[in-house]
Amino acid sequence: MMRQYELVDRVRRYNPATNEALLNRAFVYAMKAHGAQKRASGDPYFSHPLEVAAILTDLKLDDATIAAALLHDTIEDTTATRGQIDKQFGKDIGALVEGLTKLKKLDLVSKRAEQAENLRKLLLAIADDVRVLLVKLADRLHNMRTLQWVPAEKRNRIAEETLDIYAPLAGRIGMHDMREELEDLSFRQLSPEAYQSIETRLANLRKTNKSIIKEIEDELTEELAKKKIKAKVKGREKRPYSIWKKMERKAVGFEQLSDIFGFRVIVPTADDCYRAVGIVHTKWAFVPGRFKDYISTPKQNDYRSIHTTVFGPGKQRVELQIRTQEMNDIAEYGIAAHALYKDNVGASMDSLAQESSAYAWLRRTIEMLAEGSSPEEFLEHTKLELFHDQVFCFTPKGRLIALPRKATPIDFAYAVHTDIGNNAFGCKINGKIAPLVTELQTGDEVEIIRGEGQHPPAAWESLVVTGKARAAIRRSTRAAVRAQYLGLGRKMIERAFARAAKPWSEERLNKSLSRLARASVEDVFAAVGRGEMKADDVVKAVHPDWREERKPVNKAPRSEGWFGLSRVASLKFRIPGFRGSVTGKPEDMSAPIPIRGINGDLPVRFAPEGGAVPGDRIVGILTPGEGITIYPIHSPALKEFDDEPARWLDVRWDIDDVTTQRFPARLLLRAKNQPGTLAQVAQVIGEHGGNIDNVHMDRPSQDFTQITIDLGVYDLKHLNAIIEQLRAKPVVSSVERYNG
Ligand code: MN
Repeated sequence: MMRQYELVDRVRRYNPATNEALLNRAFVYAMKAHGAQKRASGDPYFSHPLEVAAILTDLKLDDATIAAALLHDTIEDTTATRGQIDKQFGKDIGALVEGLTKLKKLDLVSKRAEQAENLRKLLLAIADDVRVLLVKLADRLHNMRTLQWVPAEKRNRIAEETLDIYAPLAGRIGMHDMREELEDLSFRQLSPEAYQSIETRLANLRKTNKSIIKEIEDELTEELAKKKIKAKVKGREKRPYSIWKKMERKAVGFEQLSDIFGFRVIVPTADDCYRAVGIVHTKWAFVPGRFKDYISTPKQNDYRSIHTTVFGPGKQRVELQIRTQEMNDIAEYGIAAHALYKDNVGASMDSLAQESSAYAWLRRTIEMLAEGSSPEEFLEHTKLELFHDQVFCFTPKGRLIALPRKATPIDFAYAVHTDIGNNAFGCKINGKIAPLVTELQTGDEVEIIRGEGQHPPAAWESLVVTGKARAAIRRSTRAAVRAQYLGLGRKMIERAFARAAKPWSEERLNKSLSRLARASVEDVFAAVGRGEMKADDVVKAVHPDWREERKPVNKAPRSEGWFGLSRVASLKFRIPGFRGSVTGKPEDMSAPIPIRGINGDLPVRFAPEGGAVPGDRIVGILTPGEGITIYPIHSPALKEFDDEPARWLDVRWDIDDVTTQRFPARLLLRAKNQPGTLAQVAQVIGEHGGNIDNVHMDRPSQDFTQITIDLGVYDLKHLNAIIEQLRAKPVVSSVERYNG
């Protein structure tokens, strides 16, 4: 383990003005705090923060960063508190250590979506001080270097996370050495065989090429010296991971790679870089398309250099990077290197914002995320492989929701919260009303419009891509459908007892379950509601002495008149005071079954041809397994059920005054066949709050058009008002309600 004075010496070498007392105090504090704690390797725990600090001295970082590195695990793993650290080392260092503590809690989550959220948290955590990220990267590097001590089942996940998140981040802020080492260490863990085979071949190549590298180094140095350029030339081997990536990208074998070795030419000034490349190109033929000038146009992470490839001595390809020492430091250490080129080494890194575009990038990225805007740009810039199969959307408050590709707002709603998904009935994407089936794009801001008491329609199940949404929809629809059948069955049973003038209670029914071969009262309700059991059979089971007198209840012969008067008389519908049923009053068991519409507590649908609206006199037809279909009582379609009296149900509207629910109706119009007719018709309906669902046009004659309109209205009064307005239009010659 490194000694206390060795660490201080390392810092003093690049920063003579270092606050030695501060470093010493941090060293002692952390060592005592970790006490007898051990690492998985058996080493004292304190060796870890010490190594992290040492890595950061290689990056020549300021005292506060080195101290924070020493202290970085104290709040999380020891009894130390933020308050104590503030008191002993100041708020600056306290904030750094706290930032690192927060990040530690994010490590190693299992799900990819959580990783995305964590990446955002990570970036936000370093928003206040980029040094948090530098310490975090050094921390990860040391953990990767000592990965062999970690339990085997954890290693792959740590390596994956490193390769997915930390290595690209290091690269993005220009720390190439750090990135390469993180990549290699991860690669070795994740693909040990591939790593080993590349290592072996590199070793062979090294043996055979040792002299060639030296020859090229010498020849280049000499050639430049002749032209009075003092250059340091260094041959360099590519790292296993970058070789592997190249083999994969180009789909070639190791032997076919021509540029395993590269040469770095360090010259005193930027001017010398251009002169050097001129000399090299005069001496050796250059490979077309490989010349890049990153000095006049630096990369976004501040990288500056000239790249070229020439056919060198012996005609093999030689890759060259020509740069100054400062450019080289920045290429290796990224934003950390900027501290070196400031007047005041070891000062706060705030002024980096002006000097470093990599730092500016980081800030921009963080600001973007904090504002919740333009994550598209964020992703384009980070280009983490991890996220290619995902889309990133935002809640109106800026929370990031990561979803798989092809996800819809329904998936989004369930990802935010199950209740939000269950109550969703509409959405806004980027402020505009959009269908819930829209395929979401990265960067979309999604606002879910909710309604209390909404249930997800079963059809949604096929519109979602996330398992969470699918399971929740299935659960909810199953529960809702069962609840509807239960409700209907209960009402039918209550009425059957009332008709038979027999006392009714759940308790009595409970005692008769065996006679009905059902396990629970609820099962009986559901069976009756689904049409699997007759309500009268339930009465018989409870009162075996009861003789059923088959007096049809709602059913009347449809012999005379346009709607069998006798039947109407037997129905207890409520007109026009159908509105405003008084809630809280016990329901009259002999009264017709109250109908609240399709989202109510009963399995209800409307006559497929023409529908029914509140105010219509209605009758229900029970279809086993499908629930009640509501018909206007004068619908000719009812004729079909004349022979099945048991399916007829006595029903009435029970709709609140404030309902926003629409009901289906169909209109038949005859209108003049002239331009703009349909537009006028649609305008009248729209102006009066009708909602057109479907329009069909026929042209029975030259002069007239027959228009069939399906529309949604609140009630009969509303429908009649629309009909009146339509009739008032000169282009409209007649309007009829269609009743199937
Ligand atoms: Mn640590």
